[in-house]
Amino acid sequence: MTSSRRKLVAGNWKMNGLTASMAELVEMCDANPSNCDVLVCPPFPLIGRFVGSAGNSHIEIGAQDCHTAESGAHTGDVSAALLKDVGASAVIVGHSERRADHGESSALIKAKAEAAHANGLTAIVCIGETEAQRDAGNAETLVTAQMRESLPSGATAANTVVAYEPVWAIGTGRTPTTEQIAAMHSALRAALVADLGDEGNGIRLLYGGSVKPNNAAEIFAIDDVDGGLIGGASLKAADFLGIVNAA
Ligand code: PEP
Repeated sequence: MTSSRRKLVAGNWKMNGLTASMAELVEMCDANPSNCDVLVCPPFPLIGRFVGSAGNSHIEIGAQDCHTAESGAHTGDVSAALLKDVGASAVIVGHSERRADHGESSALIKAKAEAAHANGLTAIVCIGETEAQRDAGNAETLVTAQMRESLPSGATAANTVVAYEPVWAIGTGRTPTTEQIAAMHSALRAALVADLGDEGNGIRLLYGGSVKPNNAAEIFAIDDVDGGLIGGASLKAADFLGIVNAA
């Protein structure tokens, strides 16, 4: 995927979609938006078909998780090597649903991102605070620390994207204020630059959590918001394209 802070809109289909959902992807590819980078991350079994269907469009296909190992006795898991082999270009790691449902730690997420890099995939590293953590008043400190623990060694603008997703905003229809998003993204950018110098300036910072066609433009206009990670609104081509067009 390209960078130099070109906006990226990534769709996370989660455990949604069947083979018939290919029709939505076809509609997205027919529109073939080129105003920003666009990534669609369907469930594992659909990745190969989606790659074929995306063909020569600008839309890239990614995954929602990977294992840390190249191969082996890990029933039900999928390696970054296989994702690359079937044509994925990126993988989301550390989504809050995986942190919660599968007890994934930041150390594990860092290792997954490193496995992604070793196989030529862009790692989209997710971080974000719970509502209780925000109410406690230290969201920026906490999420910055979570980012530092989750970021792979050797992170560059070309191989790593960070997605700030407040857990309380995911799938709830609630979003932080513009000021809250701006404050978080500015704190994350400062930490990236402090740790990685100029490379940290190029790493894209996505916002995720209840982004819809009607609020996308306002969110994407915030300083240091380099696009979005979209859940529910990425399932339907009309909604997703509405968000992509706002980038
Ligand atoms: C997500 O799960 O990454 C997400 C942002 O979901 P939604 O857009 O549905 O809030």
